[in-house]
Amino acid sequence: MAEKPKLAIYWAASCGGCEIAFVNLHERFLDAAAAFDLVFCPCLLDTKRREVEALPDGSIAVTLFNGAIRTEENAEMARLLRKKSRLLIAFGSCAHEGCIPGLANLSGTDQLLRTVFLDNPTLDNPQAILPAAISPVPEGELTLPPLLDRVRTLAQVARVDYAVPGCPPEPERIWEVVETLARGGELPPPGSVIGAGTLSVCDDCARKKGDKRVERIYRTFEKCPEPETCLLEQGFICMGIATRSGCGAPCPDANMPCTGCYGPPEGVADQGAAMASALGSILDPGDCRGLNEEEIAQRVASLVDALPDYAGTFYKYSLAGSILGGRVRR
Ligand code: SF4
Ligand code: SF4
Repeated sequence: MAEKPKLAIYWAASCGGCEIAFVNLHERFLDAAAAFDLVFCPCLLDTKRREVEALPDGSIAVTLFNGAIRTEENAEMARLLRKKSRLLIAFGSCAHEGCIPGLANLSGTDQLLRTVFLDNPTLDNPQAILPAAISPVPEGELTLPPLLDRVRTLAQVARVDYAVPGCPPEPERIWEVVETLARGGELPPPGSVIGAGTLSVCDDCARKKGDKRVERIYRTFEKCPEPETCLLEQGFICMGIATRSGCGAPCPDANMPCTGCYGPPEGVADQGAAMASALGSILDPGDCRGLNEEEIAQRVASLVDALPDYAGTFYKYSLAGSILGGRVRR
């Protein structure tokens, strides 16, 4: 019997949601298992890094790598799996754009450790113990991989062939990708996004779209959106306009604004900048006749002040992969 192509599924800094999405293939997971020999998947198999190291270079047909690059170990595993794989796929928003872990790039690592382990009101840590690279225990030494200075995307540490966006990717789109890989189907040029569209979520959204003019920004707890009209036109920050299509717009369909998990549409380099630019063109400060520049600026400021967290709204999923990559350090 011919040997099946080898598949690896790895997780770095992630929540496990991409694995759950994979399992949500339901019975088609068995078809995937029939088409591939799953050789490495810490979530499902007790295979070790040394077993991957022992494989010939390029012997894994496909690695689906989810999770951002937060630690030196994540970066080492990315380089190792790159070497061993003919196709390395950034699977899910964390590997593709940094996703929620990437928001840590708004702080330094010292500040992060302080917030999580010392200043956290729900924590009992009277001896102010911080995670150590080496901890002696009676049985020997426990080690932890050092944190990198900032979160990186997979493509920032290893050459990536394709990216499958989404937090997590939708199972239907995962299946499209897995099925194409399994039958050796045609893939777009390396570097492309697969398992998604090229347009924006708005193109998949069934809501009525009209004149986009926003006189006031609302947060979702402030009022219940009307169910048929574009959420952005109602004043909710819906990122659909700056987000790649492909998910089928389930969030606006469920009366919740899109938060942007499929990343920027084709040809858009920076999702947050695209959203800020789109919002800038539709915010309506009202009739400004007779007002001086300062008064107009005040009106605009009072409109945008309704947004409490620019980075967490516009760059919720894409900060690490954005043009700035995080807080600018001097
Ligand atoms: Fe739909 Fe949101 Fe786009 Fe409006 S902005 S059309 S609600 S995805
Ligand atoms: Fe992600 Fe937006 Fe699609 Fe929801 S609508 S799944 S947030 S891209």
